[in-house]
Order: sequence, then structure tokens, then C-alpha cells
Amino acid sequence: MVDRLVNSEANTRRIAMVENCFGTSGQPLSVPGRVLVGEGVLTKMCRKKPKPRQFFLFNDILVYGNIVLSKKKYNKQHVIPLEEVSLTSLEDSGHSRNGWLIKTPTKSFAVYAATATEKAEWMAHINKCVTDLLRKSGKKAADSHAAVWVPDSEATFCMHCKKVQFTVVNRRHHCRKCGNVVCGQCSNKKILLPRQSTKPVRVCLSCYDELSTSKLENEYVDFNTSENKEKYNMDSSADDDSDDDNDEVPHNQGKVETMTFYEGNDSIHAVGEGETTPSKSPDPTGVSA
Ligand SMILES: [Zn+2]
Ligand SMILES: [Zn+2]
Repeated sequence: MVDRLVNSEANTRRIAMVENCFGTSGQPLSVPGRVLVGEGVLTKMCRKKPKPRQFFLFNDILVYGNIVLSKKKYNKQHVIPLEEVSLTSLEDSGHSRNGWLIKTPTKSFAVYAATATEKAEWMAHINKCVTDLLRKSGKKAADSHAAVWVPDSEATFCMHCKKVQFTVVNRRHHCRKCGNVVCGQCSNKKILLPRQSTKPVRVCLSCYDELSTSKLENEYVDFNTSENKEKYNMDSSADDDSDDDNDEVPHNQGKVETMTFYEGNDSIHAVGEGETTPSKSPDPTGVSA
């Protein structure tokens, strides 16, 4: 059980190590009761293309970042509270294999593991952490999630008007409500989606109409008056997924990275609280319960 690691020296050391690898680009991660459950490299589907990201699964948060130097230096840290996370397995198709969606109210994206086994391990560990957390807090799982963005490469034409072809001038934009890739004209309105951002976000015209005629997203604010538009009008490209940018840092490509879960393989299948631990495999940390 994860709880076994809570007060272990090895756990404290591992968390300090992760903190250290992010340096000043990350937030403090050492919090009483927090356990580093596992870590590894997953391929994250970003706006332009899939990119390797280092993921750290804690018992309460999922952290990922860009790899500057494998196992030594990471940056662009993202912290996702696990309470809000739900996973959906993706079918293999073409080169996209062993993937699943990580969905949260603010952001949703696809990740891919190197093998089917790794996928199964990751999903099981994440799901177990989420379930444990929700059980402890008595909270309910998040009921709505941000749309998964359609990758740029999958749209050569605007998915709304189906006329505008994307070029250097006619740039792609993502609707924050449905995730579709649309042209500037078809996404020239912004709306406040409080679950996603404190600022109004870009939506396509279909979603705009839908949102403004229904009360589904109970508190949205129309920010399309001219002064608000000016105030909030962000650069057309800079408003998109920032972790995509400036990260063409070489890392040891070709080398197969594997994940590490600190519980050993038996943990996730543990039968219950009072289980008789069959740990014939000694705890590699040297710390026992
Ligand atoms: Zn369009
Ligand atoms: Zn839309």
C-alpha cells in the first residue's frame, strides 16, 4: 500500500530529488503525507506533435514537465490535482498505440506509453490513487472535463466553415469548448468558462451560439464588447498550449525509458488493508513498513 511509504526516508529523498530536478521552475512538492508513487516518460500529444514528457505520479497530484536532461533537469512543470482526473483508454490506431486520455476540468490531453504493459500499469496506478483520494475526502469525481484538442496536423481546413485552408497567414486556433481547430473568423468570440480559466477563452462560433443560448455552462460571461475584446485580445498564437513551445531540447532519443513504480508489482493488486504482504521481493529502498 502506498501508505506504507508515507514516512519513509526513501520517499522523502525521492520527492526532494524531483523538486531538485525542476529547480526554480517548479513548486515545492514536499508536503506531509505525500508519496511519490511512480515516474516515467510518456509521450504527450501536444498541439503540433507528440512529445516526450517526464511524469511523476504522487498519491494526490500528477506532475509532468519537459525533459531538459534526462533524470537530471526538467522544466515547465504542470501540476494536476488527481481528484479532478479521470482516464479514458484509447484504441490503438496506426502509430498511436498504448494511449489514454487524462481528463481534467481545466485541461485534457492524450498520452502514450511505450508498451501495452506500461499503459496498463500507469492507468491502474493513477486510477487507484484517484479512487483512494476520493474515498478519503468523500468528494465526487469531476463531472465535466475540458475538451481534448484536435492536433493541428489533423486539420488542413477550418473545422467550422470548412472553407478556410490553414496557412502561415490563416492560422489555426483551438476552440476551448469542443477542441476543434478553427480559423480566426470562426473563433472571433470569447467567452468565460470559469472551470477552465479566469479569463475569457476562445470558442468556435458553434460553441459560442450553443453556450450563449443555453445555460449549460451556468456562469459564462460574454466578452465580446469592443473594450473587453481589446482588453483580453491576446496574441493569436500565444494563447495556445504553452508547454509546446521552445522545448526542442535533445534528449536521449531511441533509448527506451521505462517507468518505475515504487510499490513493486504486487502493490496495485493488493487485496485490501489487512493483506498479508507476500513481499518476497525486498523493498529496493531498504525501508520496510
Ligand atoms: Zn472557419
Ligand atoms: Zn467549439
